[in-house]
Amino acid sequence: MVILKSREEIELMRQSALVVSKTLGMLAREIKPGVTTLKLDQLAEEFILDHGTEPGFKGQYDYKYTLCTSVNEQVVHGLPTDKPLEEGDIVSIDCGALKNGFYGDHAYTFAVGEVAPEILELLKVTKESLYKGIEQMQAGKRVGDISFAIQYHTEKKHGYGVVRELVGHGLGRELHESPEVPNYGKRGRGPKLKEGLVLAIEPMINLGTHKVKQLPDGWTIVTQDARVSAHFEHDVAIVDGKPDILSTFDYVEEALEVVY
Ligand code: MG
Ligand code: MG
Repeated sequence: MVILKSREEIELMRQSALVVSKTLGMLAREIKPGVTTLKLDQLAEEFILDHGTEPGFKGQYDYKYTLCTSVNEQVVHGLPTDKPLEEGDIVSIDCGALKNGFYGDHAYTFAVGEVAPEILELLKVTKESLYKGIEQMQAGKRVGDISFAIQYHTEKKHGYGVVRELVGHGLGRELHESPEVPNYGKRGRGPKLKEGLVLAIEPMINLGTHKVKQLPDGWTIVTQDARVSAHFEHDVAIVDGKPDILSTFDYVEEALEVVY
């Protein structure tokens, strides 16, 4: 069942989303060669608690961490570890926060130091595809319009692999609500988009094959060909028939020396 939100609820959801945006902005200054993803996880948890908010992922499906930290060929659901990040890595930081009973769920893929040009291009195109999907989030359109826009930009125009097994989702009092929002699909298909709908739109785009597998840890999703994967996520509401992005990359992009 799709749960539409009132204006008041959407404003509460904006607060939850912005806690995550600020957390990602704080982390943007910490992500450099030598830092461990476990350290980033601790910093994120402290930051979220200091803002009168609860980590949104911890305890969901027995998950133990505040962040999902997915390095290089890891697509999503990577577990924080004590292995230092290295120059040339990329890391998707996905973070949730629960405030006033509503979840924020928002992600950015960071370059660690200098990364190869083809990888920077993947990050840029994946982020562009997120905004192309968001543009379609208008009352009267359908989920497939979002899906198509993301797939067209990444797969058709750039030849990247669009992950099929994992998708975006509705967001609200639950971290994962209906409907599912695939990053591939056909225009004009799927559930209709209505005023008050809130979605977490999250393209997961691979440099090589779209095929993925899960590691034996039961969480981490990696590409089958071990080539890198990028992931960006925003929380978006339909207000006055149009997309209203509740989260923001402004805090991250203020902190980065090079914005891609
Ligand atoms: Mg997420
Ligand atoms: Mg999500």
